[in-house]
Amino acid sequence: MPDEMTPQGSSSEAAPERPQVDRKARFKIPPHRPDKQPAAERTQNWDEVYHLFDVSTARIEAERCIQCPAAPCQKACPVHNDIPGALWLLEQGDFNGAANVFRETSELPEMCGRLCPQERLCEGHCVVGKNALPVAIGKLETFTTEWQRANGGPQHPPPAAPTGRSVAIVGSGPAGIGAAERLARLGHSVTIYEAWPEPGGVLRYGIPDFKLNKPAVARKFEELSTLGVEVRTNMRIGVDLSWDDLRASADAVFVAIGASEGARLGIPGEDADGVITATEFLVRSNLPPEELPESLRTSLGSPKRVVVVGGGDTSMDCVRSARRLGAEEVTLVYRRTEAEMQGRIEERTHAVEEGVRFEYLASPIEVLHDAEGHVSGLRCVRMELGDADDTGRRRPHPVEGSEFDIAAEIVVTAIGYNVDPEWGVAVPSVTRDRWDRLVVDPETMQTNLTGVFAGGDDVNGADLVVTALADSHRAAEAIDRYLRTLLREPMREGPLVGDSSFL
Ligand SMILES: Cc1cc2nc3c(=O)[nH]c(=O)nc-3n(C[C@H](O)[C@H](O)[C@H](O)COP(=O)(O)OP(=O)(O)OC[C@H]3O[C@@H](n4cnc5c(N)ncnc54)[C@H](O)[C@@H]3O)c2cc1C
Repeated sequence: MPDEMTPQGSSSEAAPERPQVDRKARFKIPPHRPDKQPAAERTQNWDEVYHLFDVSTARIEAERCIQCPAAPCQKACPVHNDIPGALWLLEQGDFNGAANVFRETSELPEMCGRLCPQERLCEGHCVVGKNALPVAIGKLETFTTEWQRANGGPQHPPPAAPTGRSVAIVGSGPAGIGAAERLARLGHSVTIYEAWPEPGGVLRYGIPDFKLNKPAVARKFEELSTLGVEVRTNMRIGVDLSWDDLRASADAVFVAIGASEGARLGIPGEDADGVITATEFLVRSNLPPEELPESLRTSLGSPKRVVVVGGGDTSMDCVRSARRLGAEEVTLVYRRTEAEMQGRIEERTHAVEEGVRFEYLASPIEVLHDAEGHVSGLRCVRMELGDADDTGRRRPHPVEGSEFDIAAEIVVTAIGYNVDPEWGVAVPSVTRDRWDRLVVDPETMQTNLTGVFAGGDDVNGADLVVTALADSHRAAEAIDRYLRTLLREPMREGPLVGDSSFL
């Protein structure tokens, strides 16, 4: 490693050759992680848990990468970031160059660095991680792209000349963002329609500030605006603008409406006052009222006892938000054991550190309420695990006579999300599966409707930021090809129906 610890700020164009590294020496470098706020301190604020790496520690951690030619980390990344390439530049002190490498394959590297379940993706495939902590790829991605933002910002080549063709994107979450940026850079005119008052999808209306700060989301939309992308908020397609009018407004449409319908518990008392879905709980605790629709502007107050039902990342966001709202007793109820939980280990560790109580092998059977209909608690039953189900996880069964109650003023349901079935009412001709997910050609992301594409959670069901982004890349490429067939036609008023057989 060079002695010089000052960042150089050069670009990846002059990327130094990557020599064979001394792997044995690199295996001996102790792992580093950025500092984080102590639990007692961070439950008193909504700031991000982790601080950024400092420049010298980031370079040392990047040097732990052994530059494997097969790069299993890159293969495991849904957008195939060139991780060894970026970390090589980073260890040389070329933070700008490293950030540019991440930006080549991702429109949201600051977000992915913070939010991806790296233990299942890049870091889970890191060869160094076989015998030690893996290289902190996610935290290094966040460090280098934030460093670039603070030091002149990303430098992109100017967008292509206008093509005269237009795309309407429904939804401004990661899938909508990825497609908008790629299509705008290719010279197409892009308009995003968003139902909420502010853009960002779950990045804004869901994921709490302690995982991802909101200015990072706002910055992305400033960038899209400089590319000429128009964002029209408070526009729910199917309500504020009909599908037919939307379709007539553009040459192609990308549907990226996510999966926002919180699943119900289906138990007695569920309609009591104080039972709320995860999204409602998160947005009412995290966002200022002016960024919310009228119906969600009332304060949650300061609940003393909160119970959250569910075992994924969303439920961890809820329990940890409850602690930051000042709740003294926060309990998570999950019907299996920790081994079957699908969310990130890091989030669970943080929740435990922050004083959340975990009730594993417990399932809710009734919401308890007082005479006025306010929640007073949750009745649960103990579970035991039986044979594996079709997901490979052991199926839980109730243990007779094991009922117990947990006192609470708020019960939050975080047991999964489905695609809004109203979309099928708005666009009856689009093919959906039995869970209301849009059915697409997996290569092109085109639906059964010519010129109408879809991607992200509305196709996959509730998934990840990075998988939504990967879908948007495939869709943008296919939409561009589709629009270019239109370009061969003479320009005329209004949208054209292109030749989709080439897809
Ligand atoms: C609380 C929570 C925490 C999460 N944490 C993580 C995490 O840590 N890491 C991770 O990788 N993933 C996480 N996820 C999942 C991740 O956020 C999603 O997979 C991702 O946001 C999907 O992107 P998307 O663009 O498909 O949809 P979304 O982000 O849901 O965006 C869809 C947008 O479409 C808009 N829309 C819907 N219907 C209409 C309409 N009719 N007209 C106009 N606009 C419409 C919605 O308002 C929304 O803004 C989390 C999800 C939740 C809910």
